[in-house]
Amino acid sequence: MCGTRKFFFVSCLLTMLVSGVTAQPYIPGKVYYDSSKWVEFIPGTMPLVISVPHGGSIDLVGIPDRSCPGVVNTTDGRTISLARAIISVFKKNYGVYPSVVICHLKRTKVDMNREIEIATCGNDTMKVPWRFWHEMIDTAIASAVKKFGQTIYIDLHGQGHTKQRLELGYLLSDVQLQASSKSNNDTLYTSTSSLRNLIQDSGGKFKLKDLLTGSNAFGTWMTEDSFPSVPSKQDPYPLSTDPYFDGGYNVELFTSKPKVFGWQIESNNIGVRDNSTSWFSFAEAFSKNMVRYIKTYMNIDLSNPLPLNISGFNVKKENAHLRLEWHTSTELNTAHFTIQHSKDGTSFSDIGTVKAIGSGANGYQFVDKTPNNGINYYRLESVDKDGARTYSAVVSGEWLVVSKQFTVVPNPARDMVILKGNHIASVQVIDNIGRVVKTVTLKNATNPKLSVNGLPAGVYHLQVQTTDGKVSGVGMVKE
Ligand SMILES: [Zn+2]
Repeated sequence: MCGTRKFFFVSCLLTMLVSGVTAQPYIPGKVYYDSSKWVEFIPGTMPLVISVPHGGSIDLVGIPDRSCPGVVNTTDGRTISLARAIISVFKKNYGVYPSVVICHLKRTKVDMNREIEIATCGNDTMKVPWRFWHEMIDTAIASAVKKFGQTIYIDLHGQGHTKQRLELGYLLSDVQLQASSKSNNDTLYTSTSSLRNLIQDSGGKFKLKDLLTGSNAFGTWMTEDSFPSVPSKQDPYPLSTDPYFDGGYNVELFTSKPKVFGWQIESNNIGVRDNSTSWFSFAEAFSKNMVRYIKTYMNIDLSNPLPLNISGFNVKKENAHLRLEWHTSTELNTAHFTIQHSKDGTSFSDIGTVKAIGSGANGYQFVDKTPNNGINYYRLESVDKDGARTYSAVVSGEWLVVSKQFTVVPNPARDMVILKGNHIASVQVIDNIGRVVKTVTLKNATNPKLSVNGLPAGVYHLQVQTTDGKVSGVGMVKE
């Protein structure tokens, strides 16, 4: 929950200037923390940044509970779970997801929706996560604005009021919302609302009143989807007798940045936060209406994503190597492919990269000059220009190394052969269905003699390991 906003942001702006924004590249979908794991940052792939300031449960014994004047210590229960459900539903339905910043500390220790002195009641230890919180939100906003030109910012809370509805806080009081609703002036309070950048950047095309209570207001859409909201067309303003949160420090601070607009969501408990079914049904409506909002007001269509489509990924065995080939059908901002190799099909390591053309449909190939003996597994990691990564299916190819380094005489063999070569550490004799039928351990041997007496007649592969650990092989026929 949030008290009414009281603080001007002069002091916060100064703090922002001091802390700055780190240059570290944040990879979408990865999870970042401060060194104490008190604040979590999940960079996203769309023009939406969500912060969750009051859902934390970490209670630090050594830090006194905040008790300075003006402190509110109520926890917004299960808002972290709600935010995680939102990420998950976005990914599932649209293939994109918002950036999310979460505070895991209890509000009794630090309030991430206040300026730093009230937030920490002067406790220096708590100023560290407070600054990290702001740095991560700034980073997420800057990244979204750079990529999309604009971004939405949502500060996600939970309220305990009797009326079960979403309280959308646009930095406008109940009195102002009522006045706007009853006025013929559809731009009243534009310059004080948290949507002013959206409205101003549209050159006045979008009107505040429509954005609050019109047919295409966010609250109207959520109400239509069974999540009653105020303000909305159906419920344009809270009554003066209704408690109502109109937005707080975070909304005021972050929507004061160029190209950023947004609002606070004070979510009710029943049907939204009370259990996991509610989190996911809220997340379905929220993600659907956010995608619609971004399409309507930012002209960015996320509803029909064209995920990079890789087809025909295959492995071909050639004379001295394995060749990988693949095609793309819908490249969009793809930077490169990292080719990953595995011996077991589960644990992969990078073996090379291929630069992507970056748009349209293209064909690529990569040659693995040093495949392992036996089955080789490959997958492609497609890396977008913004660092987002997706993975192809795993393909495999079998490779039996034939080396000119070793020869077997005589070949065909009867009882005994000489394996001509140096630095031999071991030899495995493998039959034509892949079974190891004989293992000989040697010590840096040169031209060792091997008994093949007793082996059934047939074709064999001698897998030779040298003292440097490399494995290669040579064919042998037993008569
Ligand atoms: Zn709150």
